[in-house]
Amino acid sequence: MPPVPETTSLTALKGIGPALAEKLTKLGLRSVQDILFHLPLRYQDRTRVMPIGALRPGMDAVIEGVVQGADVVMGRRKSLLCRIQDGSGTLSLRFYYFSGALKSNLQRGSRWRCYGEVRPGASGLEIYHPELQNLDSSEPLPVSDTLTPIYPSTEGLSQQRLRSLSDAALAWLAQGNSLLDLLPEEISNEYRLGSLHDAIRTLHRPPPSVDLQALEDGRHWAQHRLAFEELLAHQLTMLRLRAEFRAHQAPAMPPSRELTAQFLKRLPFPLTGAQQRVGAEISTDLQQRQPMLRLVQGDVGAGKTVVAAMAALQALEAGWQVALMAPTEILAEQHHANFSAWFAPLGISVAWLAGKLKGKARQNQLQMIATGDAAMVVGTHALFQGEVQFHNLGLAIIDEQHRFGVQQRLALRDKGAAGQFSPHQLIMTATPIPRTLAMSAYADLDTSVLDELPPGRTPVNTVLIADSRREEVVERVRAGCAEGRQAYWVCTLIEESEQLQAQAAEVTWESLCESLPELSIGLIHGRMKPSEKAEIMAAFKGGDLHLLVATTVIEVGVDVPNASLMIIENPERLGLAQLHQLRGRVGRGSTASHCVLLYHAPLSHLGRERLGIMRESTDGFVIAEKDLQLRGPGEVLGTRQTGLMQFRVADLVRDADLLPRVQEAASMMQQRYPERCPALIDRWLAHGQQFAQV
Ligand code: ADP
Ligand code: MG
Repeated sequence: MPPVPETTSLTALKGIGPALAEKLTKLGLRSVQDILFHLPLRYQDRTRVMPIGALRPGMDAVIEGVVQGADVVMGRRKSLLCRIQDGSGTLSLRFYYFSGALKSNLQRGSRWRCYGEVRPGASGLEIYHPELQNLDSSEPLPVSDTLTPIYPSTEGLSQQRLRSLSDAALAWLAQGNSLLDLLPEEISNEYRLGSLHDAIRTLHRPPPSVDLQALEDGRHWAQHRLAFEELLAHQLTMLRLRAEFRAHQAPAMPPSRELTAQFLKRLPFPLTGAQQRVGAEISTDLQQRQPMLRLVQGDVGAGKTVVAAMAALQALEAGWQVALMAPTEILAEQHHANFSAWFAPLGISVAWLAGKLKGKARQNQLQMIATGDAAMVVGTHALFQGEVQFHNLGLAIIDEQHRFGVQQRLALRDKGAAGQFSPHQLIMTATPIPRTLAMSAYADLDTSVLDELPPGRTPVNTVLIADSRREEVVERVRAGCAEGRQAYWVCTLIEESEQLQAQAAEVTWESLCESLPELSIGLIHGRMKPSEKAEIMAAFKGGDLHLLVATTVIEVGVDVPNASLMIIENPERLGLAQLHQLRGRVGRGSTASHCVLLYHAPLSHLGRERLGIMRESTDGFVIAEKDLQLRGPGEVLGTRQTGLMQFRVADLVRDADLLPRVQEAASMMQQRYPERCPALIDRWLAHGQQFAQV
């Protein structure tokens, strides 16, 4: 059976004309199949009428009763309060928004069916704004015979409309039309996945006998069936990306004979075992004619820069250009300084490019990059821009991957070395990626792990202190700096605005200057000129500043070994991965380091739990796993950047145990059923994500 793309026109459904079909298409529902795969987020049980006497707060329930009276009452807010009674008890319906018509409809003695959430009220149980159906006409109203689905919706589509659309689509299916089951029997049987039809039908209209709790927890077999298929489609996309990438030619670079040896001889320390191992993995990749696409994960301070330098030297010695890209100017500047110092003695000049480099200086650098006079180029994402022409780019190194997305990775590939070649790519991240996420989000990459810190580091001791004790913390900074230590004071804001962040940091800086007049205190934030930032960083690094007040711009990569104290204000505002990154700025030298999380009380339960993890662990992988459990994958990876991480049914945390099987199934699909893969990918990933969660 050769799978054909499934696109039955919406107008095949009863009640959908061309005008409605067009409106739905605009909302992302283009075909009958789209409607069938537009699945409920949750369910309500309206299959039984509950006696009022059996209600408990928190239930969503259907009740039926007779109105005793309805009055407007003046509480803190005016509301319409209607007492309703069945044989077993009474309940109040409360309306904060109501019309005169509603009030007169709810007349004493009328009979109603109501649906809503039951809550405790001042005098017994209440339902706010229930859905109402009048029961006074002679015909008895049937109750629903299935659970009521709640769909992801978008402006212009009500739940009622979505329900009638899915009714029509299910009726279409019941008439003998088929929905292509794209999973080969071999796979369905092997993993006991059940039928697609049954799964779809069950999820749209679960029978009252269904285990509602299992559905709510995503443990129902029908959800597994679809989650499996969705994860499989996702995995196949990643494999396709990977195959496309590897279909390009890359320059084969023989191992370095000269440069690496000279570099290592000058390095003031021996490589760690992990650096050697990962270095060798990269070196093998670079010798191939296929582009390398390798992710190096290593906790903050693991020594990724040295690994990057070794990779660069192999490419340089083979006569190819190398680009190193960092997500912030500060970090790019630091890399530029490091690489210049390391490479100058080897006779290699290092070019520099950032957004704020302007005019003649910029032209100069662009020129050097284009002619190949600069074999090594360090910069920010300015390196992606169209005006940048490389002479023969052979290796691109991207530091701190989580800030860059798949798209940027592809853009870089197209900067291809000398026409027909694609550059090798090395991606380095200090955000440990939990294994489950790595398996799906980065399935297109090979990964190496730098799992060993250089010797002589002392773990950072982390404490939680409420900001009511801020004075004590200031005293601690005074004492620490008096002993010759250096400290960071990090200001956080939730707002993305650099301006507000800068203002907040300035205010803190002023107040600290007042409290600690004997210290020299610097300020650094994203609104400063690169030259100013560089000056401040240099002063701090050189020991001229005791204390550096900073926004989270220092998060990534900045290296000042003598800094051994860090205060983070309002740490509850940041993700754990980001806190871990920040904290990684201290504990780089041999003195014991401390990190004070100066939180704003009271903390939420979740907030307390998250900060507790920071106090208990300094292992980036442990922190990342917990963060994933607590916040979900979108937050951890930055959904906006990865683009591919939004699932309709699957949940990477909940369905993590499916992933190994999904991976197996994906390679089976590729090998034995390649003709089905495009349709499967199309079904799950083709359309945009217009639908918000309700
Ligand atoms: P990260 O992995 O966070 O990018 P860096 O590359 O910035 O870490 O290295 C952190 C610090 O550790 C730097 O000062 C670096 O010189 C030092 N370092 C790197 N490798 C070693 C090693 N093998 N032994 C001792 N120090 C090292
Ligand atoms: Mg780094």
